[in-house]
Amino acid sequence: MLRRAGPSLRHFLLERNSSAGHSSYSREAKMSRPVQARRLEGIDKNIWVEFVKLAATYSKVNLGQGFPDFPAPDFLREALTRTLSGGNHMLHQYTRAFGHPPLVKVLAQFFEKLLGRDLDPMTNVMVTVGAYQALFCCFQALVDEGDEVIIIEPFFDCYEPMVKMAGGTPVFVPLRPNPPKDGKLMSSADWQLDPAELASKFSERTKAIVLNSPNNPLGKVFSRGELELIAELCVKHDVLCISDEVYEWLVFDGKQHTRIASLQGMWERTVIIGSAGKTFSATGWKVGWVVGPDRLLQHLRTVHQNSVYHCATIAQEAVAQGFQRELMLYGKPESYFVQLPKELQQKRDWLVQSLDGVGMKPIIPEGTYFLVADISPFKSDVPDDPNSDEPYDSRFAKWMVKNKGLAAIPLSAFYSEAHKNNYTNFIRFCFAKEEATLKAASDILQKWKQEKTSS
Ligand code: PMP
Repeated sequence: MLRRAGPSLRHFLLERNSSAGHSSYSREAKMSRPVQARRLEGIDKNIWVEFVKLAATYSKVNLGQGFPDFPAPDFLREALTRTLSGGNHMLHQYTRAFGHPPLVKVLAQFFEKLLGRDLDPMTNVMVTVGAYQALFCCFQALVDEGDEVIIIEPFFDCYEPMVKMAGGTPVFVPLRPNPPKDGKLMSSADWQLDPAELASKFSERTKAIVLNSPNNPLGKVFSRGELELIAELCVKHDVLCISDEVYEWLVFDGKQHTRIASLQGMWERTVIIGSAGKTFSATGWKVGWVVGPDRLLQHLRTVHQNSVYHCATIAQEAVAQGFQRELMLYGKPESYFVQLPKELQQKRDWLVQSLDGVGMKPIIPEGTYFLVADISPFKSDVPDDPNSDEPYDSRFAKWMVKNKGLAAIPLSAFYSEAHKNNYTNFIRFCFAKEEATLKAASDILQKWKQEKTSS
């Protein structure tokens, strides 16, 4: 039986406080110590929390947050069902902290093929709670107080707060648009780094660069030449590369996704990040991974074992079975990694046509399932407010979801605070959606355009 220690402790405290001339309750009320850790200063806002709530409240059609509304492939769902109902009840228990053995083994086999080098599943691969936790492990493990980390703008928004939380300083370098002169639609390939500008960002304080190819939000697939330039600078300045490749299979028009880790001098300094959520259209499973040299991964393991420790066994087992299937079908037409980009390419083309048809000029993405479009012809409905600190595209996206029921994400959300007003004429759509969803979005835009022309 538990002893009730409460009354005597309370008695002691009351005695002590009354002898000091005040009660314990007034002492509590007066507590003025700051509760928030300093490293959280300025990073409390999150675009997804705000826009997901807006979409849930107002949207009829949601092309905002990046997730498919079509089902994950049958073979993956069947793998999960088998895992749940099979005889191995141990799959409901903890597994190895750094990755369920069948999953790290098959990931190592897969990446051996992709990188053309031998990998040790136990030291060169680690499973994480989605790519998000993989990124968190990288920044916590590799970035120190005072380190600089180069981030290419526009970028997946969590890189900046994660660098800051680790005590580092983000240094931004932009992709600059060069619109084609012949009146053709812009492509994500027209957004490029200026080599001299990129080189100027490297210094002895630079610890790492974050590369995201294919890139969210533009859909840019960095060319081999662009990657060679980044690699050369990394080697010259002894800089690490955090390579976020979650959209590695979502590349269109026969383009090739080049892995920077496969370039000269890069394996030893690169951590590759992947996501089963993107790879198998199952974002809610939150299974991700890192692949890289042990000299880097050993530090990521320290962060992992002292934070989440481990990710759901059952999801890891099903993803392992998914990869085993894909390994068998590698490069064959039945492979999901061959079929998914084909299907997404059709969806991309459909949305490109439909946006172009209403005058919302799309930037044709070479990869991912995102597309950025120019909202200029629709701006008259959402007049500018020179007194507002909020970028125009953000107010436009909010107005659109509230008044037209169509959710999208402003491009400024993918820029740093200092540069959020650089490009405010664009919004990002996610096209990993059923035909009916894309058609409903197109209907909204067409109706809107008609209303504009008849008014
Ligand atoms: N990196 C990028 C570029 C992303 O777009 C996302 C998801 N939107 C992530 C990482 C996080 O992936 P996960 O859902 O596996 O955590």
